[in-house]
Amino acid sequence: MSTVSTVNGGISFWYAKEGTPAPREPLPGDVSADICIVGGGYTGLWTAYYLKKAVPFLNITVLEAKFCGYGASGRNGGWLYNGIAGRDRYAKLHGHDAAVRLQQAMNDTVDEVVRVAADENIDADIHRGGVLEVAYTPAQLARLKAFHAVEIAFGEKDRVLRGARETAERIRITGAVGSTWSPHGARLHPAKLVKGLADAVEALGVTIHESTPVTEIKPKHAITPYGTVRAPYILRCTEGFTAGLKGQRRTWLPMNSSMIATEPLPASVWDTIGWEGREALGDMAHAYMYAQRTADDRIALGGRGVPYRFGSATDNDGRTQPATIEALRDLLVRFFPTTAGARIDHAWSGVLAVPRDWCATVTLDRSTGLGWAGGYVGSGVATTNLAARTLRDLIQQDSGQAGPTDLTALPWVNHKVRRWEPEPFRWLGVHAMYAAYRTADRRETTSPRPDTDPLARAADRIAGRH
Ligand SMILES: Cc1cc2nc3c(=O)[nH]c(=O)nc-3n(C[C@H](O)[C@H](O)[C@H](O)COP(=O)(O)OP(=O)(O)OC[C@H]3O[C@@H](n4cnc5c(N)ncnc54)[C@H](O)[C@@H]3O)c2cc1C
Repeated sequence: MSTVSTVNGGISFWYAKEGTPAPREPLPGDVSADICIVGGGYTGLWTAYYLKKAVPFLNITVLEAKFCGYGASGRNGGWLYNGIAGRDRYAKLHGHDAAVRLQQAMNDTVDEVVRVAADENIDADIHRGGVLEVAYTPAQLARLKAFHAVEIAFGEKDRVLRGARETAERIRITGAVGSTWSPHGARLHPAKLVKGLADAVEALGVTIHESTPVTEIKPKHAITPYGTVRAPYILRCTEGFTAGLKGQRRTWLPMNSSMIATEPLPASVWDTIGWEGREALGDMAHAYMYAQRTADDRIALGGRGVPYRFGSATDNDGRTQPATIEALRDLLVRFFPTTAGARIDHAWSGVLAVPRDWCATVTLDRSTGLGWAGGYVGSGVATTNLAARTLRDLIQQDSGQAGPTDLTALPWVNHKVRRWEPEPFRWLGVHAMYAAYRTADRRETTSPRPDTDPLARAADRIAGRH
């Protein structure tokens, strides 16, 4: 297998074929709006979409630092699925039933994204094959079975547990001993979705300014080098880039995730792998992987790589470290040995946001008109849509156009969390955590025991994950 010709960065593989979209005009100067949205990823664009659909006369301005889809929304693994960061903690804080309602809302959200994409003629290569998560060590299998049982307890009665043979009938992965499959998932092309959304939102009459970085958000003001947008509501939708805004350095930690994409694989290789259902594929390792079979028959596979850059710095247009590319390639070949000769066409990375308690949130501060949604960790492709519909409802409630709704009553609404520690503790903590996860994964690979390695348990506790 060769990585000599691998494109590294260029935002992501998802832009390799069609290129990045034609740029929109920056903010021309000071303007007023009813609502100003900062960030043109899924969160910002879905929010603009639902607000404009609900109240067509609203004057909505989206400000985007680079171009719509520059962030995680144009770089992700394309798993549209029903996972939401923090559900189990919300169950502890608000009770099991509240968390079941949150889970049900997420299940519905997968359907909602598929529905709107169809309604708006957004061809995002959506394929509803569900999500298949596999185990390949005894400890992973024990975690997988426990995870399966928990998901059923949260209302996913249609989830299916499979043994080694049945798993291989779906996808042949070296050493896989079992899997759990959920129908609440689809594979998609992330950049096609975000581009289609931006176009749809613009067609509805929302104003989008690109190449317009917001330097500071204050009540009723979004300040940029080109002027200030004044609006009663300012919504921060900047996820992994949030630390770059004045006063937000320790709000959410920008965590990297990296991916590789192979060349299109020939039928002879697919014959050895199967994967005809094109399920979104993941595993139960602590430093977990995620993958999809693309519409043009490549494998796009991601994992953690270098988890975090000192001082909450973000990447350079998606470039990732050579060591990460090698590690992801090794993982690919370990899963699918017949890909050993395949070219790796592209490698890239992106940032997602991790709150101190690993819980996604959506908030509208009614006293200031400031709102935000995010902290999705690695599960934002669907969650952003639920966040957007919730922000719509919160704003409609606040402006007296509607009352509370099922969405505004969900337990992640207006959740508060403390900030991350200052440097160097942030850097040391995250790197120690991932070093512990990698060691735990290695030890579990050779251990016949079903117990999760104690190092991983300790890392979970220190990181505040459980
Ligand atoms: C490599 C990778 C793989 C992933 N895979 C999956 C997956 O398979 N499934 C899943 O559910 N989730 C996945 N995620 C997470 C998911 O992609 C994100 O949660 C989701 O895209 C977040 O959308 P967003 O709009 O909140 O943030 P983003 O898409 O990051 O958008 C934020 C936007 O704000 C802009 N911005 C930032 N700062 C400013 C500023 N100061 N002024 C103006 N604009 C600004 C940025 O340029 C960016 O366009 C993955 C993430 C990564 C990085």
